[in-house]
Amino acid sequence: MAEASRIDGKAAADDLRARIAAAVARLSARHGTAPGLAVVLVGEDPASQVYVRNKGIATRAAGMASFEHRLPATASEAEVLALVAALNADPAVDGILVQLPLPAGISAAAVTAAIDPAKDVDGFHPVNAGRLWGDGGGLVPCTPQGCMLLLRGARERLAGAEAVVLGRSQIVGKPMAALLLGADCTVTVAHSRSRDLPALCRRADILIAAVGRPEMVRGDWIRPGATVIDVGINRVAGADGRSRLVGDVAYAEAAAVAGAITPVPGGVGPMTIACLLRNTLLAAARRRGWGEAEA
Ligand code: NAP
Repeated sequence: MAEASRIDGKAAADDLRARIAAAVARLSARHGTAPGLAVVLVGEDPASQVYVRNKGIATRAAGMASFEHRLPATASEAEVLALVAALNADPAVDGILVQLPLPAGISAAAVTAAIDPAKDVDGFHPVNAGRLWGDGGGLVPCTPQGCMLLLRGARERLAGAEAVVLGRSQIVGKPMAALLLGADCTVTVAHSRSRDLPALCRRADILIAAVGRPEMVRGDWIRPGATVIDVGINRVAGADGRSRLVGDVAYAEAAAVAGAITPVPGGVGPMTIACLLRNTLLAAARRRGWGEAEA
């Protein structure tokens, strides 16, 4: 069997970001103001600092306004909620993202629920989560949204396909299942209590792996010709002692069986940040009455 085609998430994300930048330039010229994204970082978690910096760079590169708010790790929940309330009321802010995880003692659920759903560009607010399972129309979480865009680019047809989602987290597995169901797939959601994962996975025309277990999915779990989307980002020690990133899927084994597969890095990761910009543009267009901006 021929080697699977490699789904190039970096190229797809570059293309999406260019289209967003063009739409932002067009809308900013017409309306005299650009969409704005506010990112809130509480504490000094090193990985979060990198994510926040990268989001700011990507936001400015798309021609949008970037507002960064840093609070010390000692900040109280009330202080974080007060900042969210101020951002909800700020007309220059179209999107609000509070970087997770939050320091101990601050409830992520309370902070998420305090964000105006119309500005919730992470798509984690209960109103947006509910809309995803209902009639749609809300803001969709970025990572599963990016997976869907890659899937649509890789497969001619989603309707009727058997889709298996490995993982049931609020930020990836559950919204992913809702999107696949919305695209008329037959969806199975598997998790740590599921029996016989290899057999479940072998049923899948579409396999989404989001478990956070390095290379757990082996080649013989893959149905020949399947489309495999690997969400996992795991840092492991390489043979040379240096660390490297791997996904939840053993890439080389799976690529020998699959029809198409995303690599790690360079697959889902770049799409997540592009979809954050997409959500910000969409939130701005809806809130400011610009009509649905095409990107
Ligand atoms: P999470 O909240 O830890 O959820 C992991 C899910 O996998 C849970 O539902 C868990 O089941 C399930 N699971 C864990 N071990 C399992 C096993 N041995 N067999 C079957 N199911 C198992 O993780 P997450 O936030 O969804 O993230 C998943 C992965 O995606 C991580 O590697 C993360 O770094 C990556 N990620 C990447 C992006 C990106 O932009 N590319 C974005 C977000 C996350 P239970 O519910 O039963 O515990």
